[in-house]
Amino acid sequence: MAPSQDVIDKVLNCIDSDELIKLTADLVKINSVWDPVAGTSEQIAADHAVRWADRQGFEVQQEDVAAGRPNVIISWHAGPGGRTLMFEGHTDVVTPGDISAWRYDPFGAEIVGRRMYGRGTNDTKGNLAAMLIAMAALKRSGVNIGGTIIGGVLCDEEDQMLGVRNFIDQGHADGISGAIICEPQDGLICTRQKGALRAQFTVKGRMSHGAMPLAGLNTAPAVARLITDLHKLETEAVERSGRDAYLGWPSFTPTVIQAPARGVPQLNVMPGEAQVLVDIRTIPGQSHHDIKSKLSALATTIENQIRRDYEKYDRILNKDRLRDLKIAVEILTDRPCTLTERDDPLVAAADWATRKISGTDPIYAGVPGATDGTFLWALKNIPIVTMGAGDRQVAHQMDEWVNLDQLIETAKIYALAALYYLWPESNDE
Ligand SMILES: [Zn+2]
Repeated sequence: MAPSQDVIDKVLNCIDSDELIKLTADLVKINSVWDPVAGTSEQIAADHAVRWADRQGFEVQQEDVAAGRPNVIISWHAGPGGRTLMFEGHTDVVTPGDISAWRYDPFGAEIVGRRMYGRGTNDTKGNLAAMLIAMAALKRSGVNIGGTIIGGVLCDEEDQMLGVRNFIDQGHADGISGAIICEPQDGLICTRQKGALRAQFTVKGRMSHGAMPLAGLNTAPAVARLITDLHKLETEAVERSGRDAYLGWPSFTPTVIQAPARGVPQLNVMPGEAQVLVDIRTIPGQSHHDIKSKLSALATTIENQIRRDYEKYDRILNKDRLRDLKIAVEILTDRPCTLTERDDPLVAAADWATRKISGTDPIYAGVPGATDGTFLWALKNIPIVTMGAGDRQVAHQMDEWVNLDQLIETAKIYALAALYYLWPESNDE
């Protein structure tokens, strides 16, 4: 049975909106862009979280992932029970870019109407504060729940995701039965995420004078073929996998097409090396292993094809030259797509909590990019749900903001989701 209205009220009464807004503002005012040149990192934001968690009586650990880049692991053993719920939120924010282009101070946490402005208000210091307040509310309420809650306040989500990888390496993810990834999803319950596979093709020919192209070997025909064939792979994937209801279509997008691969391009110089970068986004059902083999096969096939084309052409010209064109492929990123089933207890908890607080049917959706949750899911098989306050488009933009009412609602949803997830059956007897 689900917790009664009485229990729900007890928990919600322990959520103090002013405290949530203040904690959000305090975190936003700390510039936690990872910028070794400017001397900023996640350190001060992490220290702030440590002090705050300490005051609540939680167990806290701070662990350096890299110099000046700590993870903070907050844990609270609520009572006997088999489940361990993780709330995950990151301390780093992306650069504000050109500060003079902002209408509000990116580190000012200025409140206008019901919006707070600043870098990280949306992605994701507001949600980080909401998860901490939710944990504190559950503890203060004194309601009887079982199991453990872990608050993972992690570094480096925006770049290499070193924080979550270290969290897993150190064994902190062992025993976690479900994780709520606290990211701006505008109140949606996201149970799937697109995967990302990024590859670099390097085509090696031979450089020559533009007026004497036969003295070299042009990479351009191979580049053209690569682009055409990548689109064929995309079409094949679209036809085979179809459209995911939450994530849309899979895509193979050549994003960088560059020759020369390095140095200054000149009109009368035929470059010796070209580079094609492809950004592949996948949906559940596609195999990254398969795609990687196809990319390798593509490199080999085109290499052979272009060498044969040159052979044919050189026969017409009665020309003898080395036709040793080479195509290599390197995988730069490999992050799988994730899928948590609708009948997972974590999804049931998110559903119940969202219904209770919003009073309407929850809306299910998918996350277009990868998050720290990707690694928890892929490396530790942990069911994940991504949800939180904030317009999904506003992350990483100028004048980033979060709606404070939605943020307060989010803290309540987090608290109730944990309450439901950790509600012991013995409470119903
Ligand atoms: Zn984020």
